[in-house]
Amino acid sequence: MGEFELIDRFFLRRGRPASAQVPLGVGDDCALLAPSPGHELAVSCDMLLEGRHFLSTVDPRRLGHKALAVNLSDLAACGARPLAFTLALALPAADEAWLAAFSQGLFALADAHGCELAGGDTTRGPLAICITVFGEVPRGQALLRSGARAGDDVWVSGSLGDARLALEVFRGTLSLPPALFEPARERMERPTPRVALGQALRGIASAAIDVSDGLLGDLGHLLRRSGAGATLEAAAALELLAVRRPAAAAGSLPDPQVQLDCVLAGGDDYELAFTAPPQHRAAVEAAGAASGTPVTRIGRVDAEPGLRLLDAAGQALERPLRSYDHFA
Ligand code: ADP
Ligand code: MG
Repeated sequence: MGEFELIDRFFLRRGRPASAQVPLGVGDDCALLAPSPGHELAVSCDMLLEGRHFLSTVDPRRLGHKALAVNLSDLAACGARPLAFTLALALPAADEAWLAAFSQGLFALADAHGCELAGGDTTRGPLAICITVFGEVPRGQALLRSGARAGDDVWVSGSLGDARLALEVFRGTLSLPPALFEPARERMERPTPRVALGQALRGIASAAIDVSDGLLGDLGHLLRRSGAGATLEAAAALELLAVRRPAAAAGSLPDPQVQLDCVLAGGDDYELAFTAPPQHRAAVEAAGAASGTPVTRIGRVDAEPGLRLLDAAGQALERPLRSYDHFA
């Protein structure tokens, strides 16, 4: 199978009518995108390399999903609606079964978000996937990292830390019973980009970022861009770990310090961390409900730079902040 047959078979979706947002897609020298009047284009690019971003044994269907999910997560963090994406693919060989599964996982998520594959590039080489996504956001309304102000609440969507727990099980540093490992593995391999929540937070959140490298690091980026700091409640953060929730989990979890490290610095979560003024609390809850995404308040923004963590008694916790690279 040659390069052009490969593109034709797996990435050219014959019989699909040109959409309003992508009048010209795969097959020409350029794709043409048509964002809605009064909107700005939101553009983001993420690369996934075998061995660095995913394990060589991962199910290709899940890899197709994740490669697009991590990009959609960036659009979500800006409050943008997905329009289209391009796919640059380096493959060691034209493995038909792999390509069929990969493209199925990719297109299932793309179709769920109305995001069209508009073009790409295909070459032989070590397995690498580079996707660029294009979204649209009403002019001037994109959520930015720079808008957090002292007194704002700090919020997080969904759950944090489970993907890292699963990775540590794969690495052999931790063990979990299957009933807890499977959902954690699902979080690692099939992350859910919070696209609807991001759009629902426009005009409500003061700043947002998606959590890809770990909460402390990513929230730290947001706070630096905003010229602010924050105080987080460790107990509230710990509850973000989904594997804690089933009653059966008690007794089979790693110690709470490791759990907290996974929540605060785990990575691969693809949740949104965002800030909003306290008078928007009800609106944030409503945005979460409308988008079917849990939202949890875990702290507040301070004028003083840096991140502080408090225990349940309101005392400063030192160890977790120092140990956030526990697994480095
Ligand atoms: P060019 O040589 O003009 O850059 P190519 O021959 O590389 O174009 O690609 C032919 C067409 O197939 C283009 O429309 C390109 O966007 C598309 N394409 C190539 N690889 C992929 C891919 N992996 N996924 C989607 N579209 C692709
Ligand atoms: Mg060309």
